[in-house]
Amino acid sequence: MKTVYIGLGSNLSGSMGDPQKQMQTALEKISDHPEIHQLNTSSFYRTSPVGPQDQPDFINAVAQAKTSLTPLALLDYLQQIENEHGRERKEYWGARTLDLDILIFGQQSIHNTRLIIPHPRIEERAFVLVPLLEVKPNFSSASGKSITDLLAKCSDQGIVKL
Ligand code: ATP
Ligand code: CA
Ligand code: CA
Ligand code: CA
Repeated sequence: MKTVYIGLGSNLSGSMGDPQKQMQTALEKISDHPEIHQLNTSSFYRTSPVGPQDQPDFINAVAQAKTSLTPLALLDYLQQIENEHGRERKEYWGARTLDLDILIFGQQSIHNTRLIIPHPRIEERAFVLVPLLEVKPNFSSASGKSITDLLAKCSDQGIVKL
């Protein structure tokens, strides 16, 4: 069994409801999987968009869980949930009904065409770092930088705990 961290984000309403409702539904689906256990979720945060600015604020959170799935099987399941929420891939980093990223998967480091783990942009994103630190207070940066430094570098990114 591996401990995994999943980043969740949404800034568009869809048939499954508004962003917060979609995140709650997605968390229930993740928890309902027979090979995913002990789901523990951070607070929800309202965050300013990174990349294109002409889009609504995001709701973000990070979930911790234990799983016996392989990384690719977990990615398949998360992408299935994204698709059920009507996820469309249009503009890069643009608005989306639901985004589920695997941030950390045990101690594994993976580089293939479908999966890069740890997620390469954890350290530069307040909307990932802040909720991740809630569920993983011992998070340490792969680059060796201190958490204080990482948070200071992204302190201009708007983030409010809900
Ligand atoms: P970012 O990766 O910067 O957060 P994004 O989440 O908007 O961007 P997507 O369009 O959701 O990017 O995903 C593009 C592809 O990234 C997916 O099809 C998936 O195969 C790949 N990918 C690579 N590493 C991961 C990961 N750790 N978690 C989820 N998807 C990943
Ligand atoms: Ca379960
Ligand atoms: Ca993402
Ligand atoms: Ca993604």
